[in-house]
Amino acid sequence: MEEYLEAIRSRRASIMGRVAAAAERAGRSVEDVKVMAVSKTVDVPQVLAAIEAGYRLFGENRPQELVRKLEGLALVPKLPELSFDMIGNLQKNKINTVLGRATCIHSISSAHLAEAVSARAERRMDEGAMAGPQAVLLEVNVSGEASKSGFEPDELRRSMAELVELRGIRIQGLMTMAPQGDKDIARSTFEGLRELRDELADSHPELDLAELSCGMSEDFEEAVLEGSTLIRLGRVVFDPAFTLK
Ligand SMILES: *Cc1c(COP(=O)(O)O)cnc(C)c1O
Repeated sequence: MEEYLEAIRSRRASIMGRVAAAAERAGRSVEDVKVMAVSKTVDVPQVLAAIEAGYRLFGENRPQELVRKLEGLALVPKLPELSFDMIGNLQKNKINTVLGRATCIHSISSAHLAEAVSARAERRMDEGAMAGPQAVLLEVNVSGEASKSGFEPDELRRSMAELVELRGIRIQGLMTMAPQGDKDIARSTFEGLRELRDELADSHPELDLAELSCGMSEDFEEAVLEGSTLIRLGRVVFDPAFTLK
């Protein structure tokens, strides 16, 4: 574990250096980019190493796994304050598992799901079991790949009027996943996400859509150049064999 901790620490230093360089190139402040460690493929001891290395924000793509990590960490004394976000596909029958436990749900991929999450959150708020609305991001399929989930941009434009009325959720911004394997395509996907956000922010000044969740191990620098405020890094954080290109 010592060796693993060393690996994860030195990798973190390279990641942070690259994030800072990309932010500077884009004329942005590095403080405006949150770095999430996506812990979906590792276990609690690796998460503890990541905490030791300095990560505070984690992401999971399965509700059960998110709960398992939280329960495992609850047994560890003197941990700093942490947040766990839900970043993966969310089925309606799993909403109650993540509600109020996930700091933010990044994967609201349809109006239907938004309504279901909001309705359950409102019920919890009425019961006094949740203090306020659930923070969420709207997942957008910017690249149009058939395999990707999320709102089509036009569908989202049409749904906004109805989404802003939902009292159980607080929409904080947008999320996307870029096609893998081509950094230029990834970059134009992130650019498209930012432009869509700017457009929606103009048409809905009542919302604060500050958050842009985009960028993963292979394309996080492109994401920072295009305005990402939250990069979601899995392999580059946790897999010492992953080559940082
Ligand atoms: C797994 C995952 C990531 C991290 O992917 P890496 O390529 O390992 O960095 C980011 N976002 C989502 C939604 C994921 O499922």
